[in-house]
Amino acid sequence: MVSNTNLEGIIKFKQEFREGPALDHELLEELNSWRRIFFREGLIGQYKSKYNNAGYGNISQRLEPFDAPTNKKRFVITGSQTGHIQHLTPGHYAIVTEYHPEKNLVVSEGPIKASSESMTHGTIYDLADWVRFVFHAHSAQMWAHAKEMEIPVTNGKVEYGTPEMAEEVLRLFSDTDVEEKKIFSMGGHEDGIFTFGRSSEEAGMTMMEYLGRALAFYHSDK
Ligand SMILES: [Zn+2]
Repeated sequence: MVSNTNLEGIIKFKQEFREGPALDHELLEELNSWRRIFFREGLIGQYKSKYNNAGYGNISQRLEPFDAPTNKKRFVITGSQTGHIQHLTPGHYAIVTEYHPEKNLVVSEGPIKASSESMTHGTIYDLADWVRFVFHAHSAQMWAHAKEMEIPVTNGKVEYGTPEMAEEVLRLFSDTDVEEKKIFSMGGHEDGIFTFGRSSEEAGMTMMEYLGRALAFYHSDK
């Protein structure tokens, strides 16, 4: 089945989806723990007054084989439109098997369609082979203060879920210290922040560190 729609938070790239079984609970425990923390902090959730009240935020984990070729690095990711759900079960996680930025096509399988930002996750896994976890959160505070915190930022004219975003992420990896910082902001995707790491702790704690620094801007305003 191929879908291609254009609203924020709703799948805008083309997706080939094959229904299949969910992953084992144990395999998802680590990712799901961070998903719980992100939900509690509002880094994953559902908008109440913008973006058509869409759900936002998605997190993923690489799956074996780790020597898979470019465009085919398998990963598990939170399913499309699950941002509003407090507790996820294995039925809420999709498996991405292929992604082709130049065709704007993602191939996924499992009990649910993959998140609408799967392409960016795949792009990061291809650019940095050592990365095992990619977390995408929404934070108005981090996004607003990205420049002051020296977070690399993608071009403000480029929207998420487009082939151009993959090129922008590639640009950050070749022209900035993003691989060292393990965080970037999406200039053309309001509130959008990505972190990544060797471990879930590295990806998760990078997000928490910058969230804390961003919130400090507000404390000092008072
Ligand atoms: Zn987003």
